[in-house]
Amino acid sequence: SAKAAGSNQWAFFKQQMTERAAVRLRTEASLHDALKNGEFVLHYQPKFDIKTGKVVACEALIRWQKDGRLISPMSFIPVAEETGIIIPIGRWVIEEACKTIRKWKKEYNFALPIAVNVASQQFADASLVPDIKQLALRYQISPDLLEIEITETSLMNDIELAISKLQQLKSTGFGIAVDDFGTGYSSLSYLRHLPITTMKIDRCFVTDLPNESAIASTILMLGQQLNLNIVAEGIETREQLDWLNSNNCQIGQGFYFSKPVTQKEFEDSYIKPQTASISHI
Ligand code: C2E
Ligand code: MG
Ligand code: MG
Ligand code: MG
Repeated sequence: SAKAAGSNQWAFFKQQMTERAAVRLRTEASLHDALKNGEFVLHYQPKFDIKTGKVVACEALIRWQKDGRLISPMSFIPVAEETGIIIPIGRWVIEEACKTIRKWKKEYNFALPIAVNVASQQFADASLVPDIKQLALRYQISPDLLEIEITETSLMNDIELAISKLQQLKSTGFGIAVDDFGTGYSSLSYLRHLPITTMKIDRCFVTDLPNESAIASTILMLGQQLNLNIVAEGIETREQLDWLNSNNCQIGQGFYFSKPVTQKEFEDSYIKPQTASISHI
């Protein structure tokens, strides 16, 4: 009967929900263990000055080293967000970036800004701003060397609160970038009230360059009007780079230059060569 079928469907639905919840619980537990056992690692992707070709900054991107494999953040950050464990993971990321900034300063006398990604839920957490300030103090790093990347969607959740948090971060001197710009839905009228320093053009608008350039052009103009630094994400070809260069995009990031690499590889490729000349004096 229809009633029996309905009740079967309900049982099936309930069973599926229970399985989903179980998977989430298991993943949460293993993320917790991963944090405790030091299984997370940051890779670094350089950002280049498009005109001069010099490395001007980098972005820290988390990976999970699990049973000899490297797991992409795209497969565990969403679960970490759902379960709330993103808060301690995100804090670990910020602390790790602070340690790296300090190491580069002490070991190589080299100052290179590092950007960290901050998830929506992490940005909403009341301890984020005091945590960042405290970590910067503890590791004695200059705030302008730490940049926070936040997606526009996270900022638009509660604009008034976002403005006040960003204000606190910006007035301390931290950099603030809007990540994946153009993919969320931003209220353009609020954009000029946001105390941000940088806009990152999402990869999806860079991919289509130079053929489809309307959105990239518009974002570049907007950024210039608002006096923001502009970074183009996901540059993979010479043609994309040339278009960005002739349209006055200052900074670029993407596989054309380099994939994200381990900290050691980053130091060998981008830090040691720049300091070698100094140490020979
Ligand atoms: P995102 O912050 O927009 O980072 C850029 C992503 O694009 C990175 O992927 C990077 O490896 C990739 N990418 C860079 N250049 C190119 C390119 O030329 N072509 C292509 N196809 N891809 C490129 P990844 O490392 O897998 O990270 C994916 C996303 O995961 C990040 O997007 C960010 O939203 C999130 N994520 C990464 N690390 C963290 C973290 O520490 N905390 C949080 N909350 N999220 C993170
Ligand atoms: Mg990012
Ligand atoms: Mg991005
Ligand atoms: Mg992204």
